[in-house]
Amino acid sequence: MTLPVSLLLRPLGELKEDEWCMAELTVNNYGEEPISFIKVEIFGDIEAEKPVQIDKLEIDELLSFQIKVRALNPDGVVVLKASKIEGEHVVDFMATTMKFSVRHEQGKIHKAYKRYAAHTEMVCKLCQEKIYPGFLVVHCGCNAVFHHKCVQDLTHCPACGRKW
Ligand SMILES: [Zn+2]
Ligand SMILES: [Zn+2]
Repeated sequence: MTLPVSLLLRPLGELKEDEWCMAELTVNNYGEEPISFIKVEIFGDIEAEKPVQIDKLEIDELLSFQIKVRALNPDGVVVLKASKIEGEHVVDFMATTMKFSVRHEQGKIHKAYKRYAAHTEMVCKLCQEKIYPGFLVVHCGCNAVFHHKCVQDLTHCPACGRKW
């Protein structure tokens, strides 16, 4: 069953790569009963400072939150995910994808890699361990994906050797 929650993210200023910006996150319960303990997370090319936690969302209730977001790369594709938590476990969730325009800095050299928070499970090309949704990754132009922590001190891609 999909969690009957709709999510909308609206930047309150211009999104620029690597700069924090305020945004409005709207959460609505369109189901037939109140929902308790909802966590809203953002994955993909835009990150949120922290997840939004909602104790209770009544039927037809629409809540707005001001949150801080930052574009990790100019593609601007984000996955908004709402999960219903019971104890430590996610018992139900829904996810929606949105795309935003991100201003690319004039004169900024196009990077040979992208940085974003994973939204599906992947495997790191360097340590061969799993990358879970929400982990920060470095995605090289050669299509190899790494944990950010595995390659953050490297100046070249360990898979193809190109300069980052
Ligand atoms: Zn790794
Ligand atoms: Zn590479």
